Amino acid sequence: MTRSISILGATGSVGLQTLDLIRRNRAEWRVEALTANCSVKELAALVREFGAAIAVVGDESCHAELRQELGGTGIATAAGRSALIEAAQRPVDMTIAAIVGCAGLAPVMAAIERGGTVALANKEALVSAGDVMTAAVERHGATLLPVDSEHNAIFQCLAGNAIEDVRTITLTASGGPLRTWSAERLEVATPAEAVAHPNWDMGAKISVDSATMMNKGLEFIEAHYLFPVGLDALKIVVHPQSVIHSMVEYRDGSTLAQLGPPDMRVPIASCLAYPRRMDTPCSPLDLAAIGELTFEAPDEARFPATRLAREALQAGGIAPAALNAANEVAVAAFLGGKIAFTKIAVVVEDVLAAGNLSHQAKSLEEVLAADEAARSLAGQMVGKHAIG
Ligand code: NAD
Ligand code: MG
Repeated sequence: MTRSISILGATGSVGLQTLDLIRRNRAEWRVEALTANCSVKELAALVREFGAAIAVVGDESCHAELRQELGGTGIATAAGRSALIEAAQRPVDMTIAAIVGCAGLAPVMAAIERGGTVALANKEALVSAGDVMTAAVERHGATLLPVDSEHNAIFQCLAGNAIEDVRTITLTASGGPLRTWSAERLEVATPAEAVAHPNWDMGAKISVDSATMMNKGLEFIEAHYLFPVGLDALKIVVHPQSVIHSMVEYRDGSTLAQLGPPDMRVPIASCLAYPRRMDTPCSPLDLAAIGELTFEAPDEARFPATRLAREALQAGGIAPAALNAANEVAVAAFLGGKIAFTKIAVVVEDVLAAGNLSHQAKSLEEVLAADEAARSLAGQMVGKHAIG
């Protein structure tokens, strides 16, 4: 039976890897909406190839070019934030949420409010909205499937078990490309060095997050909302080979781990086929060739981001949303050459210390307001820590 799918953030790393799997199973899928921010040529090529019903760009200034690219094809086009939300509201069997950053939050909420199945890669949306999102999932009977490899691993390790029987959940972290760098050398890490991930091929923002370990910090918060076992039961271990994607320890002493090649098509496929399995072209895991799997404790002196994320979660209220917003602003400033690599965590810490973050957001609007406020504060902190 054919199933329908929309991909929010279709031109990105996760979006393209999802489409790669769909391309190999074309008869099984009907593509409804594909969206991008402003990668018009890439988006136009994809909607033509997959015969999508509608193409949407988030940036309105890119609409004219999109219309021109798709003229005469019969494929509808739209642009702007509300158009992204409308695209996410179109009825489909599955929505892939693969926009980067809090920019994806309102569309994800729209897909959830439709009560559909949402495969979530866009961790910033869940980190920002927290309970507002999980409550909406409950209220609207939506199904949230985790695409993030760690959370997908945990989801798989929890299958058939009761969450009450979990003793700990351990998120594995590759440690990123700068894992072995000294504190002094980290000061002068360049954007090119920070995005050169040893195991995964990802978008620029998450690659920098991986280098600062903020990716694991965001994932710690993401795990808290997806698998509420209590903060003390959530652990992080550095595992440079990225073969074990995370683990669940049960109260009888059994630990279940999910292993796989470091290829996002594996967790994406597990969402696409859920609750069944599907073929992927990913290379099989060859443990003898890998030889050894190693583990080390995270070093929060050189990489403070996981501490900041834990503190934001402990502080509660809108602190996680502020942490995420500050990080987005700081990462963009680092990629733009405005601040040093090590100042990313400093900007985040400054925003957490300066903001009044104790109130609980009750709605999407309140989350977005918290995000906005933290962004503007982070902009000031970037100015304070600017290079030169
Ligand atoms: P990417 O930068 O490669 O792609 C982002 C996509 O979102 C693109 O299609 C882009 O056009 C769109 N986009 C960007 N800004 C937008 C905006 N303001 N409005 C509308 N659309 C916008 O990012 P990615 O690496 O594919 O990551 C996407 C999400 O998945 C992130 O939240 C990331 O943390 C998460 N994730 C990615 C990976 C990975 O391997 N890439 C793994 C796990 C989780
Ligand atoms: Mg991950």
